Amino acid sequence: MSAAAPPVVLYDNYARALRDFAPLAADGAVGLYTCGPTVYDYQHIGNYRTFLFEDLLKRVLQWNGYRVRHVMNVTDVGHLTSDADTGEDKMEKGARRTGRSAWEIAALYTQAFVDDIRALNILPPDALSRATDHIPDQIAFVADLEKRGYTYRTSDGIYFDTSRQADYGYLARLDRAGLEAGKRVDVGEKRNATDFALWKFSPAGSTRQMEWESPWGTGFPGWHIECSAMAQRYLGDFFDIHCGGEDHIPVHHTNEIAQTEARVGTRLANFWMHGYFLLQNDAKMAKSAGEFLRVEALVERGYDPLAFRYLCLTGHYRTQLNFTFEALDAAATGLERMRAGFHALRDDPSAGADAKFVARFTESVNDDLNTPRALALAWELLRGDLVDQAIARATLARFDDVFGLGLVDWIPSKEAIPESIAALANARADARKAKNWPEADRLRASIEMAGWAVEDHGTGYILKRRPG
Ligand code: AMP
Ligand code: ZN
Repeated sequence: MSAAAPPVVLYDNYARALRDFAPLAADGAVGLYTCGPTVYDYQHIGNYRTFLFEDLLKRVLQWNGYRVRHVMNVTDVGHLTSDADTGEDKMEKGARRTGRSAWEIAALYTQAFVDDIRALNILPPDALSRATDHIPDQIAFVADLEKRGYTYRTSDGIYFDTSRQADYGYLARLDRAGLEAGKRVDVGEKRNATDFALWKFSPAGSTRQMEWESPWGTGFPGWHIECSAMAQRYLGDFFDIHCGGEDHIPVHHTNEIAQTEARVGTRLANFWMHGYFLLQNDAKMAKSAGEFLRVEALVERGYDPLAFRYLCLTGHYRTQLNFTFEALDAAATGLERMRAGFHALRDDPSAGADAKFVARFTESVNDDLNTPRALALAWELLRGDLVDQAIARATLARFDDVFGLGLVDWIPSKEAIPESIAALANARADARKAKNWPEADRLRASIEMAGWAVEDHGTGYILKRRPG
């Protein structure tokens, strides 16, 4: 970016404020850690709203010339059915549900995730790291915390003593006194309501599918420790940005910060950013709610997965978005019109992007990822005759580095158009060029009689089946 470009301003939930972004490393590389999927089931489109927000963030950083090192974990052990430390390991439960082994379902749902992010045009992370591949890192982390006096043992595991930290819960502005006062009996042997498991023992007398030896006994790591350990391994003690869904604020990210502060004295990341929920019928879309929508379900209903991407771009990532099929229909239409409009623009490879539009686009996306405004700019380019067609096309192609809607690569399904209709449309285009309007109108009528519609975009056109 040129020196005059506005800074990237991002909302940091730790500070509860918009802050100018500047990379921590002198070489300008940006460390980004995003909490990945728990692979006990398919991910739903709510999860993908968060992954799409993170992809957008990464693309905006790249738009600004930053090199991003992106690490995402795969939670394949230790995430219990409650985000706190009660209930069963979701993986073991998923294994029982499907009749497969925990290892098999981890592989199956990880692959499904990789396929889905490709379909949604989400850039793959530089490292996709599995919790089960990093058990020694997690054990070393817990051992360090023990040495520093932050842990205690109960009959079911090793716990983190949150009362040791004066600012525990700062990210979520937790009311600790209130939580303690309202502490229910079911905290069991925990000393404080907010204490959480670092290592859990395998239940006595039974063998888990996923368990490891440790200095404290056979068992498995808690969910939070995996992210602290892997983030630190790949990105260091203090890196630029850590992301997840809004549900991670009060427990998971709060605990990641607590552990890391206790071990190395940093809050792990400079910026803490969160994607807000996709709702269904005004409630959080959740796997535990039973019914949830997968990307595949959208495809089965005839939607392009990128229509969902477009839908997400129409809302700001910090507001919840209620999913309806009407909204998805509108997004699909918007996407189709944008693609058609783009391909109807004259293509001249020597044309460059329009500097004014690029600057306005930068202003929008650098303003805490304001994609609704950025999309409006794209429509302004498509609608008006503000800039030369070839320049508009080149500008939109650049915008799409951020939107990720596959504008350039999209191929209008020409093969579906019968030759006779294509010939009529060509003849009509020639008539228009020659300003022979009666002939052009006559040809349009013939096209329509045959069940097709012709849509003019500047000097080009798009053929479509007429509805009904
Ligand atoms: P999980 O597989 O449950 O660990 O979730 C993966 C990611 O999706 C996490 O960052 C969650 O915070 C996020 N997430 C879960 N439900 C939703 C939802 N309804 N809308 C947006 N993000 C969600
Ligand atoms: Zn995490």
